[in-house]
Amino acid sequence: MKYDVIIIGAGPGGIFSAYELMKKCPDKEVAVFEAGYPLEKRHCPIDGVKIKSCVHCETCAIMSGFGGAGAFSDGKYNITNDFGGTLYEYIGKDKALELMRYVDEINLSHGGEGTRMYSTSGSEFKKLCIQNKLTLLDASVRHLGTDINYIVLEHLFAELKDRVEFFFHTPIDRIEKLDHGFKVIYKDGEAECEDCIVSVGRSGSKWMSRICEELDIDTRSNRVDLGVRVELPAVIFSHLTDKLYESKIVYRTEKFEDQVRTFCMNPNGIVVNENTNGIVTVNGHSFEGEDKKTENTNFALLVAKHFSEPFKASNEYGESIARLSNMLGGGVIVQRFGDLERGRRSNQKRIDEGTIRPTLAATPGDLSLVLPKRIMDGIIEMIYALDKIAPGTANDDTLLYGVEVKFYNMEVKLNDRLETNYKGLYVIGDGSGVTHSLSHASASGIYVARQIAGESV
Ligand SMILES: Cc1cc2nc3c(=O)[nH]c(=O)nc-3n(C[C@H](O)[C@H](O)[C@H](O)COP(=O)(O)OP(=O)(O)OC[C@H]3O[C@@H](n4cnc5c(N)ncnc54)[C@H](O)[C@@H]3O)c2cc1C
Repeated sequence: MKYDVIIIGAGPGGIFSAYELMKKCPDKEVAVFEAGYPLEKRHCPIDGVKIKSCVHCETCAIMSGFGGAGAFSDGKYNITNDFGGTLYEYIGKDKALELMRYVDEINLSHGGEGTRMYSTSGSEFKKLCIQNKLTLLDASVRHLGTDINYIVLEHLFAELKDRVEFFFHTPIDRIEKLDHGFKVIYKDGEAECEDCIVSVGRSGSKWMSRICEELDIDTRSNRVDLGVRVELPAVIFSHLTDKLYESKIVYRTEKFEDQVRTFCMNPNGIVVNENTNGIVTVNGHSFEGEDKKTENTNFALLVAKHFSEPFKASNEYGESIARLSNMLGGGVIVQRFGDLERGRRSNQKRIDEGTIRPTLAATPGDLSLVLPKRIMDGIIEMIYALDKIAPGTANDDTLLYGVEVKFYNMEVKLNDRLETNYKGLYVIGDGSGVTHSLSHASASGIYVARQIAGESV
């Protein structure tokens, strides 16, 4: 099998590469190899009732398949260079923003029309945050919502499927360099191409490390973010979420001068399990449809942990901590803030008596037995800081779910074309370590596709 371009991974990075190639060079033969299933066949068996923890499916339906890790996400496309990745370091800030806006246009023309764009610019909250030792990061955010995000993916697939060849349930095992181009090898066969775009996301991070080792491509890895997901009545944050939808707020702790930040805010949303390499961690969703909205808002509070040489196993460190919570709670642990402050575990009775109805069935427990003290102290400080701009955040009944871990892929050494030391071998999206978000991953896909199409970028 010979193609002009092979794309490995059908997450946002891979999808937008394929889309742009289809538009800019329709004559090129393009194939996409994806470890997971088509969108409609992606179902996670964890329902929180009968099946509470991971049953280790062959491919994880949450992280893998058409749409990648973003398929069941909240579909927040942040248009900013302030967070979500460091794509701008490779392609420049203006280009990065231009591509993120272009991705937004594509989303709008594929079912996202009518969704709202929120912006921090000119908002009064910046002042309020600064007055309380908090920093509000700048961004515009298109909120598709989990439901519309799914529809956009359906429409994109419908447009791509007749022009691009998709191989689902076909994880690529190895990449070989040929005299001209590359060979990709999978369980039942192999395929060749001139250009190869690798877009394997977070779920492909271990595979990516192996490929870099085999092909002698330089990498570095030193960061993991750890924390909890906070759930509270939506009214407590409504003055922020109504205007900004998602506010990315950063706090520098007084005790350790660590950075704690809010992440992935879901107004009127739900808290969900997330499966990373068989370890159950926590995340959040929200929906555009009124009928699916809850009375709660959730967001993560994460502390960034940077390690210095010679320690390189930052993700393994995060996994070990997440595994601890699974050991104690059989999955995700939930604790009332008041119980954490009083040094006692939560139990079902106290949670049931509280004013907040949890949206995830998690095991009541004690997060201080799981998270390192330094991280726990940072989170508690941040909750009190947020209480000043959103009174009620530090209420006893506020629920904390743990643990939430944000893994960072090792950074692959790339040039300003997002190309490795092999001409024609590109690494994009979260798998490159350059991006950590839907918009940056998608933009990196467009960027590389345009180069392959011969455009000067
Ligand atoms: C629950 C959840 C909610 C999120 N919410 C948001 C949000 O609201 N906003 C935001 O900006 N970001 C969000 N994110 C992050 C966002 O989903 C990712 O940043 C984005 O999906 C990265 O895109 P990607 O294409 O680089 O990788 P991915 O989306 O991870 O896709 C990679 C694909 O490659 C496939 N793959 C891996 N290895 C191989 C292999 N060897 N062979 C073939 N295929 C392979 C995988 O199966 C996967 O489908 C969320 C993530 C999760 C998990």
